[in-house]
Formats: sequence, C-alpha cells, structure tokens
Amino acid sequence: MRNATYVYNPMKKENTAEIACKCTRCRIVLNCVTPSLSLLCTCEDCRNALEWGFINGGAAPNIIPELFYVRSDIKTFQGLEFMKPIQIRDNARSTRVYCIKCFSILGVDHPGYKNNVFMFFKGHCSTTCDLSIKPSAAIHLKDFPGDRILELPKNIKQIWSFTSDEVIKFRSIPNVAKTLRDPIQPAEGITFQEIIQRMPEIEVLKPATK
Ligand SMILES: [Zn+2]
Ligand SMILES: [Zn+2]
Repeated sequence: MRNATYVYNPMKKENTAEIACKCTRCRIVLNCVTPSLSLLCTCEDCRNALEWGFINGGAAPNIIPELFYVRSDIKTFQGLEFMKPIQIRDNARSTRVYCIKCFSILGVDHPGYKNNVFMFFKGHCSTTCDLSIKPSAAIHLKDFPGDRILELPKNIKQIWSFTSDEVIKFRSIPNVAKTLRDPIQPAEGITFQEIIQRMPEIEVLKPATK
C-alpha cells in the first residue's frame, strides 16, 4: 500500500479553538471547541468588570452578559506579557484576565470552576469556539438594576440569588453539574490557572482600606 493516496479522515478534523483579544496580541488555543455550559449573569461583579474594561478602551458592557464555560485545557498561548489578572476587590473570588492594550477579557477563573473549566464573556474577546449552546440559566437576577427592563429567553431557569434552595436548583441543571466539578481527567495541555500563575501579581481594583 505504498503510494496510497491521502484519504480525508473526518474524525481528524480540527479539534482546537481559539480565544483572542480584539487587538490580537493575546491568543489562547484550546484543546476543545465546544463549551460545556452557557449562563446569563446579571451579577454586580460582572457588570463592574465589563464597565472597568470599557472605561479603559474595551467593548461596551451588555446589560445581560453571556458567559461560556470551556475546558481549562490549553494547547498553546501567546501574548502573556500583555495579559493582566484583575480582581474587583479584596477577597474577590473571580480573577479576570484582561489584555492591557485593548481591554478584552480573555478568561475568568473562580475557585468554583475547580480548574476543570474557565469562563469567557461573549463579545468581550474573539473566539472560534462553537457558541451555539443555549444558556442553561440566568443567575444573580437580584443584582439586575431596578431601573432596567429584564428580558430573558422564554422558559430559562432563573436563579435570583444563591440561597441554599437555589444552589440545589442550580446544581441540578445537567450542564452545570458536568461543568462545575473536579476534572475527570487531567488537561492534555496547560490550564488557565497555570497561565495566570505566570502573569504578574493580581491587581485588586478596590483594595480594603485599613
Ligand atoms: Zn489585546
Ligand atoms: Zn456575574
């Protein structure tokens, strides 16, 4: 079978996707194309983080940010020198990684993601990930500004705050359960948390006043 002609193998199709910032200095190539979860989040922290990016030159905030969760398994990355980890305030749990040139947000880590996944905001970075997954829930609705009209997709699960009852309701959503858990196998590449560890120290926007 020498000289066998090349046979196209549909199973070998491209299985990486990329997240890049708008100015393209920063790129993260993922070992996975499809997010495992999408959520709509109206929490104050997401709003503040998007507004801070916007003030510095990033994309305008959305009234209902769309969140996508992808496996924290990164094949390659570039532009580390332009990536900056930011926390909104002292003792914040989310760490958001911005490009310091265009203020795109490349990704967000949170202890609850257990390094199995990380999150990104649709419209605040460029991506080739498949974003066709529908949001599983709208969360933190109690933080939605009272002077705005809340328009949500029909029949979406609504989580107003994370009281114990609502946590149970949230965790019972299949895509949430499969996403927010310990990794069942180690990443092939490096994880988003490992990239953050290579960045400069996390900047806290509102340090606690002593
Ligand atoms: Zn950039
Ligand atoms: Zn949020």
